[in-house]
Amino acid sequence: MLEDVPRDPFADDPNDPTAVLGESAPCEPLTLAEREEALTDLADVEVFRSLLEPRGILGLCLDCPECGEQHYFGWDLLRGNLRQMINHGRPQVHEPAFEPDPAHYVSWEYARGYVDGVIDTEESR
Ligand SMILES: [Zn+2]
Repeated sequence: MLEDVPRDPFADDPNDPTAVLGESAPCEPLTLAEREEALTDLADVEVFRSLLEPRGILGLCLDCPECGEQHYFGWDLLRGNLRQMINHGRPQVHEPAFEPDPAHYVSWEYARGYVDGVIDTEESR
């Protein structure tokens, strides 16, 4: 029965975030290596978040391969993008956080270095 189909929560939303998944932006399936990398990235993001979010960091600032500029991604968006990629293929989305405060975002390299520093400190205790 049609009534039993859950209503599309974005049906009336002009900014439908799922609209980009239409014909104009088909998802490319990931290779095994890309999938492994995405899974590793997802694990990294979870670790970064657990250590950096309590310090007021809201996400990461990443170089955009499409426009060459830096974009800011909140933790939820990062995680969502990676999960989307792992489950459905390359997302081809281009949706940086809305008007982010750069002071609250760090680069992937910074996060990596920060986490490694914390781990070193704990191991030397
Ligand atoms: Zn871009």
